[in-house]
Amino acid sequence: MAKLEVMLVPQLSDNYSYVMRCEDTGDVGIVDCPDAEDMIAFLNKKGWTPKAIFLTHHHWDHIDGTKGLKEKYPGLKVYGYIHDQKRLPDATDFVDEGDTVSLGACEAKVLFTPGHTIGHIAYHFAGSDAVFCGDTMFAAGCGRVFEGTFAQMHESMQKLAALPPETKVYCGHEYTASNVRFALAVDPENLELKAFEVEVKQLRDEGQPTIPTTIGKELAVNPFLRVDAPSIQQAAAEMGKDASDPVAVFEATRTRKDNF
Ligand code: ZN
Ligand code: FE
Repeated sequence: MAKLEVMLVPQLSDNYSYVMRCEDTGDVGIVDCPDAEDMIAFLNKKGWTPKAIFLTHHHWDHIDGTKGLKEKYPGLKVYGYIHDQKRLPDATDFVDEGDTVSLGACEAKVLFTPGHTIGHIAYHFAGSDAVFCGDTMFAAGCGRVFEGTFAQMHESMQKLAALPPETKVYCGHEYTASNVRFALAVDPENLELKAFEVEVKQLRDEGQPTIPTTIGKELAVNPFLRVDAPSIQQAAAEMGKDASDPVAVFEATRTRKDNF
């Protein structure tokens, strides 16, 4: 099966856009883009012309570069969530849960992952062991629940967690260091988390990204997935939540992070 080459393109202060290239056909695509000029400079250096941009959700720090990219690359396909047409004015192709999209010979399934926004999607390229999940899952964290319910966000996180453990997680922001600080506060005895803290600190000290993480790693370190871990349940119980209810534990953990 054809594979993608994936490159991180840091944008703004802590956003990640991604450039992907199908190794079979050479077709180039982008995931999210707040800054068109910066992205065009990256593509010019490579000598590449993108065919498509895959949008995860309507927030400005993920879509503001779309218009400029369309002007620069006429015919650029812009994928977005079908029920967010009004909020994705530059999108050209609308997709829903379960749809297949492709870049060259590489295919992705669209996953509906509401919670951060009610129109959030992720793109799972199974043949490349890669998921682009915007502001749903972060390394050791998850997006704020702005529009959806905690139950929706919990379900979206579980949907991503059910992907094969080797799946690389390409998320929308470099938030890992602060996420790890919070995770240690609610999950202090987690040895894999402690090891991850050391790894993350070293990467950040060297100015390196901590992304991609993997689903397998997130299952071990991400407090928003570990709703069945005693320490996470204990922290929820301290907030008066029912520790036996995964959604209540998720809500308590997310609320605590909002105030951390
Ligand atoms: Zn967002
Ligand atoms: Fe964002």
